[in-house]
Amino acid sequence: MGIRFDQVTVAYDGQVVLDSLDLTVAPGEVMALLGPSGSGKTTALRAVAGFVRPVSGRVFLGDRDVTDLPPYRRGIGMVVQQYALFPHLRVADNVAFGLKARRTPRTEIRTRVAEALELTGMAAYARRHPRELSGGQQQRVAIARALAIRPDVLLLDEPLSALDAQLRSGMLAELARLHRELPDVTILYVTHDQVEALTLADRIAVMDKARLRSCGTPRELYRAPADTFTAGFVGTANLLPVTVTEGGVTFGGTELKVTTGPAASGARATLCVRPHLVGLGEGPNRVAGTVREIQWRGSTHRLYVEVDGHRVMADVRELRDPPALGDQVALHFAPDDAVLLPAGAGADDQ
Ligand code: ADP
Repeated sequence: MGIRFDQVTVAYDGQVVLDSLDLTVAPGEVMALLGPSGSGKTTALRAVAGFVRPVSGRVFLGDRDVTDLPPYRRGIGMVVQQYALFPHLRVADNVAFGLKARRTPRTEIRTRVAEALELTGMAAYARRHPRELSGGQQQRVAIARALAIRPDVLLLDEPLSALDAQLRSGMLAELARLHRELPDVTILYVTHDQVEALTLADRIAVMDKARLRSCGTPRELYRAPADTFTAGFVGTANLLPVTVTEGGVTFGGTELKVTTGPAASGARATLCVRPHLVGLGEGPNRVAGTVREIQWRGSTHRLYVEVDGHRVMADVRELRDPPALGDQVALHFAPDDAVLLPAGAGADDQ
């Protein structure tokens, strides 16, 4: 069952925190809501769950307008950051909670609890109390509890952010596996972490200041972002202030060849080039500058090079003889690897 936001606006005390959201999540799709803290992601999720009421707009689950339905009548599973398990109940009773509330027959409860614990790899822990579990295990139980009601829609609000880095990457793989086993469940996943969004989501909706900035597959947003905010938030980007010319752009004093699209000659714009697509040494679209910082990152060196007063990042692989701080170097990139964006605030300050 899909989810549809139709011009959904939410305000607290007259302050709009979600502004006319239009977004459709297809049945069985994983949609990440990605954006900085305070951008309205959780509010959007809670509007689907029924915990906040829009001041205007409608929320649909499948064909059903659920805007006026209370949360318990929406048939949605939800997992939040802080597990929120009942400490005095054993794992199995925590997982059974939603089913009991729905007056599900006892034998059916037993079957569904076993199924949900099996799905989340927690079958062996049914008789434990939450305090006898690790953080990762508690979050699995929270997921099992959400799945036990066999929801068509699963809402996940920063489900991994309370876990340490190593557990998080294990749980990411777990969530991906769960989705493969339950391909019909539609998932709306709130996160501020681009790795989670890029790894899990079929599509990402990028939120900023109560508004949807852009929406697309991870690949689309990474390769062809529509604006500087998206470019900077999904992956790392060099965002260079340029002026459009006939055959390309000028950056500082240098002519660069790029695909310019409909931008008028003379217009200011931002050129987006991913650091791993910038090469060290001579090549097409050459710029020269001074090395200001070098970070070794295991498989790559990240060079920060000052070019005409702007910082350009280059991630270079297998650099046996890295340049030294203060060295003059040439950088280059292929014309096809740059994307021209509307001039944006913050273009040169990330
Ligand atoms: P995000 O999930 O992107 O971090 P939220 O949707 O939680 O953002 O919050 C969006 C804005 O709404 C924030 O400025 C937050 O302070 C405000 N907000 C959230 N919940 C409430 C509330 N219950 N009362 C008043 N303001 C709220």
